[in-house]
Order: sequence, then C-alpha cells, then structure tokens
Amino acid sequence: MAVDVVIVGAGSAGCVLASRLSEDAARKVLLVEAGPDYPTLSELPDDIADASQPTLSHDWGYLAEGDSLGQVASLPRARLVGGCSSTNGCFAVRGSPADFDGWAALGNPGWSFDEVLPYFNRLETDTDFVGAYHGSGGPIPIRRHPPEELNQVQSAFIAAAVEVGHPYVADHNAPTAVGVGPTPRNARDGVRMSTALTYLPVARARPNLTIRSGATVDRVELSNGRTTGIRLATGEVINARALLLEQVEEAKRAAFDYYVLVRNAYAQRRNALVNDRTQGTSVDQEDLYHPEGTEAQP
Ligand SMILES: Cc1cc2nc3c(=O)[nH]c(=O)nc-3n(C[C@H](O)[C@H](O)[C@H](O)COP(=O)(O)OP(=O)(O)OC[C@H]3O[C@@H](n4cnc5c(N)ncnc54)[C@H](O)[C@@H]3O)c2cc1C
Repeated sequence: MAVDVVIVGAGSAGCVLASRLSEDAARKVLLVEAGPDYPTLSELPDDIADASQPTLSHDWGYLAEGDSLGQVASLPRARLVGGCSSTNGCFAVRGSPADFDGWAALGNPGWSFDEVLPYFNRLETDTDFVGAYHGSGGPIPIRRHPPEELNQVQSAFIAAAVEVGHPYVADHNAPTAVGVGPTPRNARDGVRMSTALTYLPVARARPNLTIRSGATVDRVELSNGRTTGIRLATGEVINARALLLEQVEEAKRAAFDYYVLVRNAYAQRRNALVNDRTQGTSVDQEDLYHPEGTEAQP
C-alpha cells in the first residue's frame, strides 16, 4: 500500500490534520490509530460521549516516572480515534498571551499570541461571545455554563471568590482574563465534542481518506536515512511520501528502534510492577524505567 501522507495517531491533532489534508482530493491520506473507531455519536460508548468528566476506559495505561519516595502516578493517554479529545475534561481554555509571546521571543517564529489567535478562532464557534478573540464558523462548539446551570457548590465558590476580591470573569478566553467564572468548554448537550466528532465527520466520506483503527504503528521505515513509510505491529509496511507522528515526544527522545525497544520492555516492566503491587512488594524505579537492554543507541 502507498499513500501521499500517513498520519500516525488519530488523536486531537491527527483528526484535524486528516480532515484538513484530505480537503485536496488529489492527496491520498491514511490516518492510523491503535485504538478503536466509533464513527458516529450513536456508536460512542456512554462514557466517551459524556462530557461531565474525563474517562479512562480507553487508555494506554502509562505510568509517570516515580518520585523520590517511589510513588508512581498514572499518566492518562487515550487510545481511540479522537485521542485525548475523546476522553478529556473539555476545558477549552487558551494559554496566556504572555506565554505565547515569550515562546516567540525565544526564537519560535509564528508562535506569538497575535499569530496563533487566528487559528484558535478558526477552530471554534463560540456561542457566548463574538469579536476579535472568538470564532464563529469553526467546527468545535464552545460554551460556558450560565449561572442557572451551576450547582450550589459552584455558585457558592464563585460568590466567595468574588467576595474576597477576585474579579469575576465572564470569559476566560479574553486575553487578559484572570479571575473566577465559568470555564469555556467544548461540550454540547452534555456530549464531549472531540476532534473525532467535529473534524472527522466531513472527511470520512472522502475517497482519498482512509482511517485504519486498531492498527498499532511499530516503527518508521527508513532508507538511506530518509523516511519511506511505517511498519505496523503486524509487520505490514505502508509507504508514504510524508509522515506525521502524534507521539513526537517519544520520537524526539531517541532513534525509533530504541523507542520501539523501550516501549516493549516498558510494557513488560509495567506488568511486573502491577503484579508486585498486588503482592505488596516494591519495585526499584531505576529498574522500571531503564530495564536491562534498553540503553540509548548512539
Ligand atoms: C484525562 C485528561 C484530561 C484532559 N483534560 C483537558 C482539558 O480539559 N482541556 C484541555 O485543553 N486539555 C486536556 N487534556 C490534554 C489534551 O487532551 C491533550 O493535550 C491533547 O488531547 C493531546 O493531543 P495530541 O493530538 O497531541 O495527542 P492525543 O490526543 O493523545 O492522540 C494521540 C493518538 O495517537 C495514538 N497512538 C499513539 N501511539 C500510537 C501508535 N504507535 N500507533 C498508532 N496510534 C498511536 C493514540 O492512541 C492516540 O489516539 C487532558 C488530557 C487527559 C489525559
């Protein structure tokens, strides 16, 4: 199989990329996802649809590196089409403009707040606010709970914060907003509006977009130091002219073969940890994260 672009991971970003890149009918796009795909709202498991709280039913089960006391925290990462946008808290709050400007000043062109603002606006339809800081034609609906939807505790919390001097903020996505008020959320009628539900539907019918769910990418194929495609865990090789990886952090950390090696070894060590926990014994953190045979390759 050969495609123009293969996108590894149909997460928050992957679904957007697949939708946008497949707008060009001449470009053949493949979106590969390790977890399952629920193409329509009616097929979504209840917890994936329910925007009231995050869910861990579709999760990789990662553990964060332990602290000095050996405490190991879970590190939730979703494993399904939509990625973490299908399981997360739906807080649609933008970063502080000063942070974006700071990143730009450090030498990252295009990352100043003024430069990223059009993209924030483009992805959303804010049903509460219009103007320069809000979008009105994007696929992701944004709204805030009005006072009558807040429960007693939430209302009392806001009232107490205002009473002690925090400013009331009706719109946390206004650039200088600091204070207390309802959180902007990407939820509609109680449903979590993931990128799978907002960006992918228009693209699914396109003949130039293929979605492969239940397909774990095992490695990037290289030839003479250049990427030629990917290899799935089943051994199937897919050639591509361009490759977009969701798990950039792991990719950056080391050569891809090393990543695959660590991933496999990590899974074994994690299972060992869970077993040992059940039996009440402890596991050396150094041993968990740097198991024998996974030293980085030069
Ligand atoms: C519990 C939780 C709550 C959160 N709440 C909020 C919130 O309220 N507001 C907010 O702004 N952010 C929130 N976040 C953070 C936000 O959801 C993430 O930062 C964002 O979704 C990351 O997007 P991504 O595209 O980088 O990765 P992801 O959305 O994680 O997508 C990565 C995808 O790649 C797939 N994948 C990984 N490896 C492979 C492989 N080898 N082969 C094939 N597929 C693979 C995964 O299965 C996944 O679908 C939350 C995150 C979590 C975990």
